[in-house]
Amino acid sequence: MFNTTDKIIIAGPCSVETEEQMMTIAKGLRAANLTLLRGGIWKPRTRPNSFEGVGELGLPWLKSAGELIGVPVTTEVAKGDHVEMALNAGVDVLWIGARTTVNPFAVQEIADALKGVDIPVMVKNPVNPDVDLWMGAIERLSAVGIKDIAAIHRGFSSYGQKVYRNVPMWELPIELKVRMPEIKIICDPSHICGRRDLLKAVAQKSYDLDMDGLMIETHHLPDEAWSDASQQITPSVFKEMISELIIRKPEAQDLNLSKSLEVLRSQIDQIDHDLIQLLATRMKTAREIGEFKKENDITILQLGRWKEIHDARKALGENLGLSEKFLEVFLNALHKESINQQNEVMNISRSLDK
Ligand code: PEP
Ligand code: MN
Repeated sequence: MFNTTDKIIIAGPCSVETEEQMMTIAKGLRAANLTLLRGGIWKPRTRPNSFEGVGELGLPWLKSAGELIGVPVTTEVAKGDHVEMALNAGVDVLWIGARTTVNPFAVQEIADALKGVDIPVMVKNPVNPDVDLWMGAIERLSAVGIKDIAAIHRGFSSYGQKVYRNVPMWELPIELKVRMPEIKIICDPSHICGRRDLLKAVAQKSYDLDMDGLMIETHHLPDEAWSDASQQITPSVFKEMISELIIRKPEAQDLNLSKSLEVLRSQIDQIDHDLIQLLATRMKTAREIGEFKKENDITILQLGRWKEIHDARKALGENLGLSEKFLEVFLNALHKESINQQNEVMNISRSLDK
């Protein structure tokens, strides 16, 4: 299922609501070239009294909607008995939700229920930003013999977050890609954004980061959806969005293009090399200042001096087009490392003195 170089495209409603709803959505998605039709049967909800899914009763609706358009179907499982019911109903692919991936007992229960079963499984990232936990769930499935596994990046919860429902933190799926290069990563812009207007930009960004596909919630009447109404789009908006996304190549094919890329890359290599050397020189100087402070019994941290450095460097960086966010992170890391280096000079050598 996931062993393909084509983008994996998954669409369908957040929740299966009625048979008619599933059929209507499926018909709308007929020409969309879907890899999978999705529909939530058991819905993990943050607060009680929200719609918690139609349950087992909806499985045949999902299945026949897929059959109607000749597309395999997928649903979320959170417990061993969900697995059993989904398998009995002929669901083609399962996924583990973000609230389940956080819990190794629950993941293990699902894995145990899948022992000896040959079915593709997708694993959403845990709600908290922890790549090990994400990998752990994938490993538990591999350990029971599941071979066809993909990951889904759906963003990470953060308290008081305004723009995104779940912050993308792209560095995490990138880390998963580096640590498990064989695992395809499907981006779920719907749960990252929580709102329609941001979906396309997030989907495009995932393509530009060479992610392997998309899962997007679609509903024929998005505003009336029984769950996640504000992030769902109609099948026709979905089809238009997908057709407008640009798929860029990971490598330049044309020889001239790849030559110019090589030139730019070698410039970057040289700049990085110089940067690291400069940073090492800066830290060497910081250590010399540490020696001086030690001789003269002066504190490492001098707030006034730090503020001066911070503000001046930030203004310089901003004038040169660097973002405020990057400068904050960079300057703080620089300051922290200088303090550590000075601390080492002042305290380790002091303890050696004694
Ligand atoms: C869903 O896909 O509808 C869902 C509940 O997602 P998540 O596990 O990412 O919250
Ligand atoms: Mn949803």
